[in-house]
Amino acid sequence: MENLTVYIFLFILGSAIGSFLNVVIYRVPLGKSIISPPSSCPKCGARIKPWHNIPIIGWLILGGRCAECNESISIRYPIIEFFSGVLAVLIFYKLKNFNIFYIIDFTTFATLLALSIIDLDYKAVPDSLNLLALTLAFFSSPDIIENIKNALLMIGIVSLIRFYISYILKKEALGEGDIIVAGTMGALIGVKLSLIALFIASFIAIFPSFYIRYKNKDLELPFVPFLAFATFIVWYFNDFFIHVWRIIYG
Ligand SMILES: [Zn+2]
Repeated sequence: MENLTVYIFLFILGSAIGSFLNVVIYRVPLGKSIISPPSSCPKCGARIKPWHNIPIIGWLILGGRCAECNESISIRYPIIEFFSGVLAVLIFYKLKNFNIFYIIDFTTFATLLALSIIDLDYKAVPDSLNLLALTLAFFSSPDIIENIKNALLMIGIVSLIRFYISYILKKEALGEGDIIVAGTMGALIGVKLSLIALFIASFIAIFPSFYIRYKNKDLELPFVPFLAFATFIVWYFNDFFIHVWRIIYG
C-alpha cells in the first residue's frame, strides 16, 4: 500500500515533468525560451489556465480543444505526459531507490524522450538537449570515469559504422545527433549492452523503413526514437540482456 502511494506520487510528478517536456519539445527547436512566457494557445494566444495545465486531466477537461478559440490541441501532449509519468514509475521500480541516481537517470531518459519527439518532427535534434543528455548520463551511475570511457567508445564505434555505411550507400548515413545519442547509450548501459541496443534499434527500424520504401516516399527515417527506446528496454532488462550476451559469447 505504501508503495502504491509512492508510485502514484511519482506518476503525478513524472507527468508534470512531461508537461514541461512538451514546452521543451515545442520551444527549443524554435530557439524560444523555455521559462517565459507561460503557455498559451498557438492560435489565439490565450493563456492556458492553471487547472487546464494539469497533466493529462487538463487536456481531458478541455476535450482536446482550446477553451477560448476551440482550436484542437494535439493528443500528443497528454500522451507525452503519460509516458513521462510511466517513465518515472518504471525507473523507481527498477532502482528501488529515490536517490541522486534516480533523479539523474529519470532526467536523462526524459531528455531522450524529448529528443525522440523532436527528431520525429524535424529529422534533427538540437545539440543543447543532446549534449545535456550525454552529460547527465556521465553521472548516471557511481563509476563516472567508466561511464565517460563507455560514452567515448560508443561515439567512436558509431562514427566508424557511419563511415562504413556512408561508403557503401554512397550517401550520408546516420546523423551527427545519432552519434551523440550513442555516447549517451554507452554512458548509461556500457558498451556491450549498447551494441545489443543498437542491434535492437536497427532491427525495429527495418519495418518502418520498408514501409517508407514501399510507399515510395522520399522520407528520412528519424533514428533517435529507436535508439532511445532500445536503450531504455536494455537498461530496464539489463540482467536479461547480460545473460543473452553470455549465452552468445560465453
Ligand atoms: Zn486558442
